[in-house]
Amino acid sequence: MLPGMPRGGRGQYKDLEATSLFCPRCGKAQPVRRRLLLVLPTGEKYSYLCAVCGEEVGSKTETGPSNGVINTLG
Ligand SMILES: [Zn+2]
Repeated sequence: MLPGMPRGGRGQYKDLEATSLFCPRCGKAQPVRRRLLLVLPTGEKYSYLCAVCGEEVGSKTETGPSNGVINTLG
């Protein structure tokens, strides 16, 4: 339990996406930032960048209401 985390006890999460991915440049899992790359007719493509060094560590295409799968690079 991290200090400062809200303890609602309702088990609700706004965002179930990965918040950290393995960064090959850092050599360990790092928090990531999501950046919108493209808006396609079939969905939106996002890129995940290491929040520490900026390396792209993954990408994901969201197609409508169902979430896509995060594809890690390398
Ligand atoms: Zn990194």
